[in-house]
Amino acid sequence: MIRYIAKPPHIIREKFPGFIWESPEGIIFTIDDGPSVELTNMLLKKFSDHKIKAMFFLLGKRVRVNPSLVKEIYSEGHLVCNHTFNHLALPLLSVEEAEKEIRRTDNLIESIISVKPSFFRPPYGLFDIRTPKILKKCELKNVMWSLLSLDYRGNINQVKKVISSYLRSNSIIVFHDNAKSAKILEEAIDFTLEIILKSNFIIGDPGKCFLK
Ligand SMILES: [Zn+2]
Repeated sequence: MIRYIAKPPHIIREKFPGFIWESPEGIIFTIDDGPSVELTNMLLKKFSDHKIKAMFFLLGKRVRVNPSLVKEIYSEGHLVCNHTFNHLALPLLSVEEAEKEIRRTDNLIESIISVKPSFFRPPYGLFDIRTPKILKKCELKNVMWSLLSLDYRGNINQVKKVISSYLRSNSIIVFHDNAKSAKILEEAIDFTLEIILKSNFIIGDPGKCFLK
């Protein structure tokens, strides 16, 4: 089982060259674990106000109860991506179970927006040597990250410290549309936008960067 915290070590990146580890152009915003009635609309408004296109890695179990939010995410021009159905750690599942978790989510999303997701992110960022083959079979590209905002720890000062220290012009940054980050998510995103502005970074469009 492979695990890392804020920044993925080089040795892992070299072992899995088929995965996306950073942005070819501009900072990419990625949001995991949604959709939620509590936060998704705030995120959509924020991204619309700042003309940002993001990647939303959605959980099938939450898609099932919030299909209208999935339609909104899609109609706002964001990429609707797969984050499995139940958020289980892939290395603990059999190949068949892992494939089921992924296909079930793909099928549900496709039934709502009529488009099959092209991108995937594993729960907890956990994968193993079987993962590339499973994803190839499911026609999904794995998008990791180069900066974990640590928003799920719920401590805004820690998030600010991580972002001001590690945000780069080609970062793929991850935030969470879930209860753990709820209290600080908006401030975390506002702070990131401030740093981007101050540093003269640009924000990338994931559709243009990755959909080819
Ligand atoms: Zn997750």
